[in-house]
Amino acid sequence: MSVSVEKSYDVVIIGSGIGGGAVAFSLAGTGARVLILERGERLPREAENWSPEAVFVEQRYRTREIWYDGKGRPFRPGQFYFVGGHTKVYGTAMFRFRERDFEGIDHADGRTVAWPVRYADLEPWYASAERIFGVHGKAGDDPTEPPRSTPYPHPPIPHEPIVAKAFDRMRALGLHPFHMPAAVDLHPGGTCVRCGTCDAFPCQVGAKGDAETRLIDPALQHANVALQTGSEVTRLIADEKGKRIVAAEYRHGGKLHEVRARLFVLSAGAINSAALL
Ligand SMILES: Cc1cc2nc3c(=O)[nH]c(=O)nc-3n(C[C@H](O)[C@H](O)[C@H](O)COP(=O)(O)OP(=O)(O)OC[C@H]3O[C@@H](n4cnc5c(N)ncnc54)[C@H](O)[C@@H]3O)c2cc1C
Repeated sequence: MSVSVEKSYDVVIIGSGIGGGAVAFSLAGTGARVLILERGERLPREAENWSPEAVFVEQRYRTREIWYDGKGRPFRPGQFYFVGGHTKVYGTAMFRFRERDFEGIDHADGRTVAWPVRYADLEPWYASAERIFGVHGKAGDDPTEPPRSTPYPHPPIPHEPIVAKAFDRMRALGLHPFHMPAAVDLHPGGTCVRCGTCDAFPCQVGAKGDAETRLIDPALQHANVALQTGSEVTRLIADEKGKRIVAAEYRHGGKLHEVRARLFVLSAGAINSAALL
């Protein structure tokens, strides 16, 4: 199949999930010419978004792609290819890592390598992300929570009556239940109707703080950022020394295209990024 070579960009971002979306959001309004390549399309807002039958039985939003396990057996992976990536179905839980998560940790099979940054380095960025995503929460109840420079932007989501009862009983036993930090628009001016779905369901009213609504769409308000959907990157092309990625090949509209850039951001999710590399 012939490959058509297109114009070049400063930055090409592969994948529009929370990883790629955060980069696009940060580069919006700068001088950099940015292209986001996303294999999926926009997830439609429709009645089936909130239907357990459609979501779990028909698996309406899950990819129809077939993968193979280590023994060559085919299976349909739990992957969702849409603008916004997996945050279109995530549960809105917006936790910060704990300080100890950045250290080397002993596991049964060995010790993990400590991160090159610490919690304190990332703290201002957590604060900024919570603002962008409109996180509801309450500091002070969780004894493992790390220090924070700012309060949560919104008060915690009130518990359902049955959960409130369990919460009180746990407290009476000396335990430390706490409100889950949640990125959802359940405040004055917000669109959440407390439908009772979130985890694994797309949001029909756009109330979830997801990568499409909070990062990609605001980034696209700026002329320097463009999004191209239905564009699956199939190959990364290195320079002659094999040290630097200078181009990417992608399939769009049944044809292969090649795009060049000074910088490529590979944010296609844990498995697809690894597969591309
Ligand atoms: C049901 C469910 C509930 C979850 N709940 C929570 C939660 O409450 N809190 C939490 O913190 N996390 C939660 N997670 C996990 C969280 O959603 C993911 O960790 C996060 O979305 C990953 O973001 P990412 O940008 O790294 O990758 P992804 O979201 O996978 O984004 C990658 C993007 O790249 C695109 N792509 C893939 N391959 C290519 C290619 N070759 N070319 C072009 N584009 C490509 C994909 O379509 C996708 O849009 C949940 C996940 C699921 C499935």
